[in-house]
Amino acid sequence: MPKARWRPPSISGAGVRMFFAGLAILLAAAAVYASVLIFQRQSAVGRISGYNLSFTVGQAAQEVSRLQGAIGAFALTSDEIDRDAIETWLQIVKNRVSVLTRGESGAFIRSNTELSAIVGRMDATIQASGPLLAEVKDRAQLQQFLGAFRGLNGSMARLASVAHAYAADLAARDAQELDRLQWLFSSLLVGLIFCCTASAVIASWHNRLLTRSNGAVQSLVQDLTSTGESLTAANERVQDAVEALTQQNERLQIRDAELFRQNQLFDAALNNISQGLAMFDTGHRLIVSNRRFSEIFQLPPGAAEAGAYAGDLLKLVGTSGAFGVETAHALWSDHQELAGRSRASTFVREDAERRSLTISHQPLADGGWVATYEDVTESRQAEARIHHIANHDALTGLPNRRQFSERLSHALNTGTQRVAVLFLDLDQFKNVNDTLGHQAGDELLRSAANRIRLCVREGDLVARQGGDEFAVLIQDNGSLSDDVEPLAARIIQALAAPFDLGQYQASVGVSVGIASASGPVITADAILKHADMALYKAKAAGRGTYRVFEASMAAELQARMDLEGDLRAALSRGHFEVQYQPLFDLRRGQLSGFEALLRWRHPQLGLVSPDEFIPIAEETGLIVPIGEWVLRQVCANAATFPKGTKVAVNISPVQFARCDFVGLVRDALNTSGFNANCLELEITESALLHDSDGVAASLGRLRALGLRIALDDFGTKYSSLTYLRKFPFDKIKIDKSFVRDMATHADCLAIVRSVVRLATQLGMTTTAEGVETSTQLNQVRDAGCTEAQGFFFGAAQPYESLWHWFEARPPLLVANN
Ligand code: C2E
Ligand code: CA
Ligand code: CA
Repeated sequence: MPKARWRPPSISGAGVRMFFAGLAILLAAAAVYASVLIFQRQSAVGRISGYNLSFTVGQAAQEVSRLQGAIGAFALTSDEIDRDAIETWLQIVKNRVSVLTRGESGAFIRSNTELSAIVGRMDATIQASGPLLAEVKDRAQLQQFLGAFRGLNGSMARLASVAHAYAADLAARDAQELDRLQWLFSSLLVGLIFCCTASAVIASWHNRLLTRSNGAVQSLVQDLTSTGESLTAANERVQDAVEALTQQNERLQIRDAELFRQNQLFDAALNNISQGLAMFDTGHRLIVSNRRFSEIFQLPPGAAEAGAYAGDLLKLVGTSGAFGVETAHALWSDHQELAGRSRASTFVREDAERRSLTISHQPLADGGWVATYEDVTESRQAEARIHHIANHDALTGLPNRRQFSERLSHALNTGTQRVAVLFLDLDQFKNVNDTLGHQAGDELLRSAANRIRLCVREGDLVARQGGDEFAVLIQDNGSLSDDVEPLAARIIQALAAPFDLGQYQASVGVSVGIASASGPVITADAILKHADMALYKAKAAGRGTYRVFEASMAAELQARMDLEGDLRAALSRGHFEVQYQPLFDLRRGQLSGFEALLRWRHPQLGLVSPDEFIPIAEETGLIVPIGEWVLRQVCANAATFPKGTKVAVNISPVQFARCDFVGLVRDALNTSGFNANCLELEITESALLHDSDGVAASLGRLRALGLRIALDDFGTKYSSLTYLRKFPFDKIKIDKSFVRDMATHADCLAIVRSVVRLATQLGMTTTAEGVETSTQLNQVRDAGCTEAQGFFFGAAQPYESLWHWFEARPPLLVANN
């Protein structure tokens, strides 16, 4: 811890230094001044030399007097004149005069005109005395020569007196000056002594201050030392901190680089997404947006700057041509409304004439929100197209089954109105299709659709259900029950008229089944089923008519559904069995084999007819495992029959379509050991309707195994001669309805005869079905049938009861008459 800070005395060292410097300058100035005084003193001494003037002048007067004395002495005493002595005296006087005209004496004499005149006269007298001396030859002349000097004596006395007065004056002034100087010296000395004393005092005081300062400095040094130590420690800590900071800085730099990279990625991502993106703050100010945002709204460059006001941007949108003014207004309203929302939402904003946008709004934690805008115009249009395709029938342009079901469900679920469904099925349409071709069939369907459409009121829905089936949905307008049946009658009448199909004319009728209901008490499927059942009844009633669904039909439907459930379990429970009906060779008059016929022994209902359950088995696909079971059962049974006994098995078209039927047959034969040449398969024309090439190929392979193929129930359905030519059947089975009516309808006999002829020509044999009487036997035999089958010979019997057939030989066949 540093001690209390030392405070310097109020007079600073610099002040003292300045004081001493001032003092030194003062002393120097005193010295200079003293030397000046000395100089003045010397000048004063010089001037004292002025006292010489009176001395010089006095000397000159004495020398002149001496010269006069010398000359006078000569003139009195001697005859001989000592010229040299006189000349020496003259020279002395001459020098004295010269001294008087030079230096300070000269200056003094020149300052006084009277003295100048005296000296001038003296000089002139001396100068003139030289030549005079040479002419002196005797004492008289010497006396005369001496007289020339007498005039000088008074002047010399005057000169001497003036010189004395001047000298006295000078001496008095010098004495005064000396007094002044003495005072000055004394004052200076006193001043110097004072200064030195003061200096000594200040120096000692300053010394004391310095001692105190030194003590303070010492403690300061101690303080500084300890402070230095703490500074060293602090410095170490600072070093550590600097190191930590450096490391942190490095980490920050790495983070910074990472952030920069992420920023770039973010930028790239932002500008490469297909949606426009914009982030707004709570004040509707733009925070950030991407390029696509400006593109979608066709904003001018620089408009979507951070801080731009959403209202201004949407004004630009209204004028840029991207959207209409109304849409821009709507977008602005959306914007304002979204600002208050706290949950994410997505909606579509459509501009009928321009474009559609999907707008997704996501609120942000700190207020504001981010919105994405996706231009979904094309996908919406595509969606609309797809929706149209998904909901309409391509051929007739009518709503399809799917849309019909939806509308029906909607009507049942949402409305309390009564709803009626008319189920329409064209009669004999398949004939048109098969005989006149698909194009004609399509044309007929289009015309039929138009006619139906013309029969209904606006608001009623006409749909194509598929194939030759149509449906009409009508909703209650108060008199539904009064309207439905007349509508059905109108439709029947409209479709009864022949159709003009270009080259051809065709007539079909229509059967109509009607069902109605109200509210969600019934499902769309159920009401459709009701209508379908009513249609079935209408068909059964002889076509070209309508039937309204009744509860009893529902009971039938329920019974059928129950039957379906039981049928599923029948196979595993062993409720099926195969019975065999004999076939007779009419030419040889003996048994030629059996037709295997399936029987279902229902625990409650007893024996159920195949006519009842085979169609259900076909619809549900159960016919596949059931048919397999029959085939294996028959082969197993037949393998025990006497050699050469032929057995026929009925095969459903569904079996061809659903499994590897050829493989199954081969396996059944192999497993049982039954001879393939004794196995006959009976198929109906309907097996050939679909994928006739595939079926033909299968039939070909079956024949290659050694099997025979018979065309069953010939004459009941399509009786297309094309099939006879296309498929190499071994036998045609003439349907029992012809045999039954031969006695009463001549045309039936004619048909039987012509079929036999045709078969013979094609190299096929014929079997007449349903022969019950000897008359019928004779008729079919006469017609040329190869074989006959019917109650006349015997009904189908269980496997166990067949042995008597094999024992009863020779042939049991009874001739007619
Ligand atoms: P289908 O092939 O025409 O069989 C002949 C039907 O006529 C049999 O009826 C038979 O009992 C009946 N019938 C025989 N002689 C006479 C007669 O003199 N007068 C009358 N009125 N009827 C006679 P069933 O057994 O009821 O069989 C009905 C249909 O069920 C068969 O007609 C056949 O199409 C089908 N079926 C029977 N068994 C099978 C089977 O195992 N598989 C398949 N897929 N269908 C089968
Ligand atoms: Ca048959
Ligand atoms: Ca038959």
